[in-house]
Amino acid sequence: MGLLDEMEIEISCPKCERKFQVSLRQVQQETTVTCPGCRKQIKLKSTGDDLSKIDKAQKDLEKTIEDLNRNLKFNIKL
Ligand SMILES: [Zn+2]
Repeated sequence: MGLLDEMEIEISCPKCERKFQVSLRQVQQETTVTCPGCRKQIKLKSTGDDLSKIDKAQKDLEKTIEDLNRNLKFNIKL
């Protein structure tokens, strides 16, 4: 996935619903991360039950990139 590997997405802890960031690479490699809120160990999955969450995170990421592009265009005009 190239540069996207380094990009971070926001996920919600399934236990305490705290939002925190993981990299797409961590998701792809299905690493286990620790929730900064409740210390729950969360195994990241690129497929399966968590797919909808990752889909949502990717949509959020796309929106962030869109916003970034918009800001860049805005800056160029200035
Ligand atoms: Zn948590």
